[in-house]
Formats: sequence, C-alpha cells, structure tokens
Amino acid sequence: MPADLLRRHVPLHRLNSFGLPAHADWLAVINAPAQLTALMRQPEWRYLQRFVLGGGSNLVLTGDFAGLVLQVKIAGRERVAEETDAWIVRAGAGENWHAFVCWTLECGWPGLENLALIPGTVGAAPIQNIGAYGLEMAERFHQLEAVDLETGESVMFDSPACQFGYRDSVFKREAAGRYLITAVTFRLPKRWQPVTRYADLARELETRRIAQPTARQIANAVVAIRSRKLPDPACIGNAGSFFKNPLVDAATFSHLAVRYPNLPHYPQPDGRIKLAAGWLIEHCGWKGQNRGPVGVYEHQALVLINRGGARGADVLRLARAIQETVWAEFGVELEPEPVVL
Ligand code: NAP
Repeated sequence: MPADLLRRHVPLHRLNSFGLPAHADWLAVINAPAQLTALMRQPEWRYLQRFVLGGGSNLVLTGDFAGLVLQVKIAGRERVAEETDAWIVRAGAGENWHAFVCWTLECGWPGLENLALIPGTVGAAPIQNIGAYGLEMAERFHQLEAVDLETGESVMFDSPACQFGYRDSVFKREAAGRYLITAVTFRLPKRWQPVTRYADLARELETRRIAQPTARQIANAVVAIRSRKLPDPACIGNAGSFFKNPLVDAATFSHLAVRYPNLPHYPQPDGRIKLAAGWLIEHCGWKGQNRGPVGVYEHQALVLINRGGARGADVLRLARAIQETVWAEFGVELEPEPVVL
C-alpha cells in the first residue's frame, strides 16, 4: 500500500464532527475495495484491531485508538439500470450523503429528498438506517456491497440481510465491525409520492405557499429547517441527535400521559409508542445548559455540542447526567445514538 495512504500516529480531531481529540496508531485511506483486500491479506494488518471511519458524524472518541482506522473514501456514483417502475442508482461508500442526494435530484430521480443535509457518507447510511421527516433510507434501499474484514471476501447484502430497524441494522448488532461497506445501491421510484406528514415540513411548505411540492422543493424545505435547528459541525462540534427516540409500551405511556398531557407521542405499527427524546430532555430543563466544555444545543435539546476543547469523557458525563434526570422524571431510558470508541 502506498505510504501516503497508510499513516502512523494520526490525529483524529478533524475526522470526527464532534471535534474530539484522539490519535489512531495507524490510519489507512481506502479509495477502492481492492486496496482493502490487499491490505487484509497481510497478517500484520489483518490481526490488528480495526475501526471503519466514514464521515465521523456519529462518533464519540473517548481516547486514542491502538489499532488501524480504515477511512473509507471510495468515490463514484452512477445510474446502473432503469426499470419500468424505478431508477437503480449506485454510489461509492465514501461519497458525501447530501451531495449524493442533491445529485439524484438534479438527475430527476426523486426519492431521497427528505434525507437531505444528513451529515456523513453514503456507506454509513445503511448502518443506522438513517431517517428524517417520515422517510427511512431502508424504503429506498436496493442492495449493498461490502468486504468481510475477517475473510477479505466481497459480499452482497440485500434488504432482508441488512435487517433494517428504527435507526438500526445488522451492522450495529451481530455484524458490528465485521464488514466494510464499499458501495450502496438505491431503488428510486418512478411513481413518486411526496412524504410531507411531519409537522415541521408541512409548516415550512405552507409558509412557502407550496401545495404540491416537487422533490427538489421538499429537499430545499428540509435543508432550511435543519439549518435553523441543527448546528453546523464546521462551526460547532456535534454528532447530530445524541439519543434515540425511546419506544415505550402502551401501559407505560398511559401512566405518563396522565402526568404529562402534552407529551408528544407517535404510535408504532407494533403497538409501542414512540416518545420524542428532545422533548423529555427539554422538559428536564437541559436545553441550553452547559457542563464545562460541553452543552445541550439551545435550538434543539437532542443535540449535545462541543463548546470548545471538549474531550470524549466530558460528552459521556453530560450524556449520563441527562439520562439520569430523564429516568428520574419519566422512568424512561434514553439510549445514545452515536458509536462510542
Ligand atoms: P421534531 O419534529 O422535533 O419531532 C420530534 C420527534 O418526534 C422526531 O424525532 C420524530 O421521530 C417524531 N415525530 C415528529 N413528527 C412525527 C410524525 N408525524 N410521525 C412520527 N414521528 C414523528 O424532530 P426533529 O428533532 O426536528 O427532527 C426532525 C427529523 O429529522 C426527525 O425525523 C429526526 O429523526 C431527523 N433527525 C435525525 C438526526 C440524527 O442525527 N439522527 C438529527 C436531526 C434530525 P423520528 O426521529 O423517528 O422521525
């Protein structure tokens, strides 16, 4: 592997959107699947502890990493087929997600517009089945290509094999750390229907006096809402939503609804009720609060931010304090969304 693609003692603070300080013993930039296969054939790399890094936008670094970071930069995007009811579009795992969404829209292939401006790479999207404004990536997913880091073999995953769930997939559970995703293929519907049921999005379109939005107009509205509510990681370090929205059973919800009549809640197909983690956190008084160099974003209580000079331990300390107060107030457990390394 060329020396410029394999580096030693590499600082990671610019490679994670929280801006947390840490070093990796080794970092390899992966531009093509073949590079990875060649690297994994060499025993000295194959048996080293590994971590796959995309955009670093869903990551809390708690210290130095004594192993090999694989930074995925595999580029490329293409339409691979046109079927009677869909366009089949493929992108390299290292492509920036938002740029990819914009490209599909410019090409006239709608379907990903609600997921505009989500930070991170295409390859990271299936791992947590990214979702926003009533749409999950799984609804547009066709298949993905990956390299098995244990065997060095290329493997293909279809949707059932990915076991997509709410902000979840097999890559966060049984297969965690085993595969490096190299490309993702999407199925974008020709008979497209706008998804505008989320209140923020419906309001934004109404304000813009758009009754029958195009996909591009939905993307523009989503970009405007997200830009207002979420901090730009280039200016304020953060990892997006820090906690998943908790799901509670109907009995738990009934008890809570008596005490908190305004509690936002969303019934799920499986009978459970989704609560808004941001509302629970805000209700506990955390919005805009600081704990040393970290804080809770003043415009969105679900986002923890680096106010400057924070370390991973500061983030985890604040996250634990929030979990404790939400548990004490509501008896609801909040589960962090980012990967902690
Ligand atoms: P919001 O509009 O303040 O609503 C709070 C939560 O309630 C959302 O997280 C959403 O759950 C849920 N919700 C709202 N309307 C709903 C509906 N009509 N049906 C079902 N559930 C509904 O949310 P927000 O924090 O500004 O986020 C807006 C969207 O962007 C959400 O979908 C959110 O997941 C997504 N987002 C994700 C991240 C991330 O880092 N993962 C960061 C920012 C925003 P869901 O989360 O299940 O949609």
